[in-house]
Amino acid sequence: MSDAPDLEFAFEAHGSPVPASEREAILANPGFGKVFTDHMAMVRYSADRGWHDAKITPYGPIQMDPATAVLHYAQEIFEGMKAYRLPDGGTALFRPDANARRFNDSARRMAMAELPEGLFLESVRQLVRADKDWIPAIEGGSLYLRPFMFASEVFLGVKPASEYLYLVIASPAGGYFKGGASSISVWASQDYTRAAPGGTGAAKCGGNYAASLIAQAEAIREGCDQVVFLDAAQRSYVEELGGMNLFFVFDDGSMTTPPLGGTILPGITRDSILTLARDAGVSVREEPYTLDQWHADAQSGRLRETFACGTAAVVTPVGTVKGEGFEFGIGNRGPGLLTEQLRTQLVGIQRGEAPDPHGWIERL
Ligand code: PMP
Repeated sequence: MSDAPDLEFAFEAHGSPVPASEREAILANPGFGKVFTDHMAMVRYSADRGWHDAKITPYGPIQMDPATAVLHYAQEIFEGMKAYRLPDGGTALFRPDANARRFNDSARRMAMAELPEGLFLESVRQLVRADKDWIPAIEGGSLYLRPFMFASEVFLGVKPASEYLYLVIASPAGGYFKGGASSISVWASQDYTRAAPGGTGAAKCGGNYAASLIAQAEAIREGCDQVVFLDAAQRSYVEELGGMNLFFVFDDGSMTTPPLGGTILPGITRDSILTLARDAGVSVREEPYTLDQWHADAQSGRLRETFACGTAAVVTPVGTVKGEGFEFGIGNRGPGLLTEQLRTQLVGIQRGEAPDPHGWIERL
């Protein structure tokens, strides 16, 4: 895939953007994923013309024919990433190249057209530049970016579409969990799994999330914040949460996380945590870990900490694990030492407040 954008983005300014005073009121308490900025990026693809018609355009509804393929067969993928405000007032993206690569990994799995990485990067940069006033200045604030692509061909035949629409929308974000939970509780689902070997677990496709909602609803019913999925084949190994990867910290200072085997999402936060932990001399394993072992290690005290990580919630301690007929706590059910250390370092890099030894920050 070519790295340079081979298309210029046309800029169509919003005729009536949200007034600054209204925007400031929204940014004081933005929540998550509820309000959107003034513009969006859009690029079209067709098999005969390739990628074309790139533009930054006013945010708004898109018209769809009822026979548009995505509405029937869910050929859709997305990304999740953030833009941050730097201490000097500048703006930065965190590892956007990793999102561009994962987007194309997802596209290949879903038999969709690949988007040149340069085009992905440029779409995100230009949207953030246009709407940078929407980055909240509040503690923990960021601009959540949602690149996505769907089969826009009007055709009911079951086949890879020959037309796609790629968009990027942006939403100011505060904390992810209601009340900015200092630790979360998780529900281990026995009835539902997220991904099977050979399936789409490693792709960021909408269908994975549609299939996970019933399990997430069950977790909420059981009084938990998030569902934790077990492997589909044996219902024994811990895989990941509905929207985050998991890490386990032991009393010997070592750490483990489930391996990438095609059934879990290769999180960019997961990869960053692995790198930072190894830099700090922590012994890190990517190894299968069963729910039974998790329970036994929490009870014996061998397990000191468990945390979840992802773009939205960054690093969040897991305090309580529940399932059919059992419940156990981890450590003092609050943030552990290594969890805190890694979270502080990662947040510091993302916000331009700590050294960035791996060049993860792209200043815009
Ligand atoms: N697992 C799932 C299922 C997710 O949806 C996400 C969020 N993208 C993650 C893990 C974490 O990935 P990342 O660190 O790239 O946000």
